[in-house]
Amino acid sequence: MISYSQELMWIDHQSDQMISQLVTWANINSGSTHLKGIEEMQSSIVAAFTSLDCTIKKIPLAPRTVINSYGQPHERAQGSILLMQKHPQAPFQVLLGGHLDTVYPPESSFQKVEQIEKNIMRGPGVADMKGGLVILLTVLKALERSKYAGKIGWEVFINANEEIGSTGVDPILKECAERNSLALFFEPSFPDGALVNERKGSVNFTVVARGREAHAGRDFHLGRNAITALARFITEAEKLNNTIEGITLNVGHVEGGGAVNIVPALAICRINVRLTRPEQLSLICKALDSLVVQAHKKDGIALSLHEDTARPPKLFDEKHQSLFKAFCTYAKDLGEEIQMRSTGGACDGNILSAFGLPTIDSLGVIGGHLHTHDEYAVLSSLTQRAKLATYFLLKLAEKLHVTS
Ligand SMILES: [Zn+2]
Repeated sequence: MISYSQELMWIDHQSDQMISQLVTWANINSGSTHLKGIEEMQSSIVAAFTSLDCTIKKIPLAPRTVINSYGQPHERAQGSILLMQKHPQAPFQVLLGGHLDTVYPPESSFQKVEQIEKNIMRGPGVADMKGGLVILLTVLKALERSKYAGKIGWEVFINANEEIGSTGVDPILKECAERNSLALFFEPSFPDGALVNERKGSVNFTVVARGREAHAGRDFHLGRNAITALARFITEAEKLNNTIEGITLNVGHVEGGGAVNIVPALAICRINVRLTRPEQLSLICKALDSLVVQAHKKDGIALSLHEDTARPPKLFDEKHQSLFKAFCTYAKDLGEEIQMRSTGGACDGNILSAFGLPTIDSLGVIGGHLHTHDEYAVLSSLTQRAKLATYFLLKLAEKLHVTS
């Protein structure tokens, strides 16, 4: 018989409860910039955690500076981080976490769970990652029912701005990394159930081009066209895709100009770069800087480069290899063959691993079509993943002899 079968069976019995909790949470709009919705979601999470009798803290995040459509720095308010903790004196401390924000703003037409059938739920954030939060909660309830209750100390970190780059959370995650031996985060796994072992880093930049406005007919020669200057910059920046191995550079947004009879004085582009090695960040910054300097050689044109958010690559180093190996070995006891693959997508696991904390960050639901109106979660994966994570923690605790 599998050890901890009582705890695992208890999780199986939570299936209906987990599905209804997921519907409740998915139906709350918590788009990253919708602060009211984020607060509502936090209150609902706090209410759900009440039965665990843990300490609950909200840590406000400082406003983040963004470059607005006028090319000016602008302060934008951010939600707060939810930190919950229990048994801080226990001999074995784990961090569990994720984020409650989604990519769907309140104006999106995708607001509610639209379909539950044939083991699939389609709704906003059901996979990324409200389903993961439901799993996280169930894992903790199962732990607290086990013989290791009180011997495994846990901390829960729930971010409110992960989808827009996690600005300002580094110092909080750094402290979490220092207090815990490992982290389990509940971002979705791949649609086939494989876990993510390695993640690219992700950095956002904004480039502001300024020229000189002029009448396009009468004074065309006096104008300095910011859009064409930015277009030249973009063409050069695009080439970095081939010159620095392992990086991708995507110009994802461009704005500028106005009436076509005015030589435009302002143009802005927003760029996302993905990296495979930490040292590539300085390489890409240098390369973009030198393109900006090049652009200045043109009379009357000025470009400026702003780094917005940066998450380092998550490497599959020795620490992570042994954590994943242990996880996959224990998963076999439950009849699960766990596969792993790398991804270009970054998450808070990138930040934790850069602070030296071994992290498995894709223990949430099996799901897919993330960030689209077809986002779905496989319902049976709610209990399946909760059992995997619970069993893993119980086996680790057993191995570390933390029982009395
Ligand atoms: Zn996510």
